[in-house]
Amino acid sequence: MSKISCDIIQDMLPLYYDEVCSADSRKMIEEHLQECEKCSNIFQKLKTECVVDTKENAESIQSSVMGKMAHSWKRSLLRSFIIGIVITTIVLTAIFGTYYALFIRQNSMVSPEQISISAYSLTDEQITFRLELLDGYCGGTIKTYTDENRNLYISVLRTVIKEELSDGETEIMNYGFNHEKKDYIAVYYGTPNNCELIWKKGDLLPTAPKDIFE
Ligand SMILES: [Zn+2]
Repeated sequence: MSKISCDIIQDMLPLYYDEVCSADSRKMIEEHLQECEKCSNIFQKLKTECVVDTKENAESIQSSVMGKMAHSWKRSLLRSFIIGIVITTIVLTAIFGTYYALFIRQNSMVSPEQISISAYSLTDEQITFRLELLDGYCGGTIKTYTDENRNLYISVLRTVIKEELSDGETEIMNYGFNHEKKDYIAVYYGTPNNCELIWKKGDLLPTAPKDIFE
């Protein structure tokens, strides 16, 4: 068997290192490396360079991992920020919602027992109701509802948290309508489920005192 030249062996060393050459070539290279110091040195050098290369690869992988971590950190910061905004919005909505429900929204009806109602005629067609609140709190707004039988329901609505009147003060509200035009059968204070009759068609009414709107 003729001795293979160092050049051929050196050409094949990278393939041998990567373990991609045939078993015969492998055997041949190994035999040559055992005998030839020059080629053996070259192979050692090749191995060292490859290890360095692998190390660099590892560093670049590490820095890419760091990059991903920074990216995910930024993402989690953004997520925390969004969650913070959502929570703040919910809390503010709850606070203002509660405030609105208790102090602004006039949804609480003054019950028939807490109100004294007098009905008067102003003119031949005009009827007016004088609503005096008896529980010592300010009034709110008058809400009306007419059913399909021309029954009118009047109620005074106010906020859940009521404003107290000063001593000696009374809250009086007036509500009037043209009964020739409206042609109501009856007028109730309250809602259809909880009401008291305050006037029905044909009831004669006293003339309103002069100071009723004062
Ligand atoms: Zn050699």
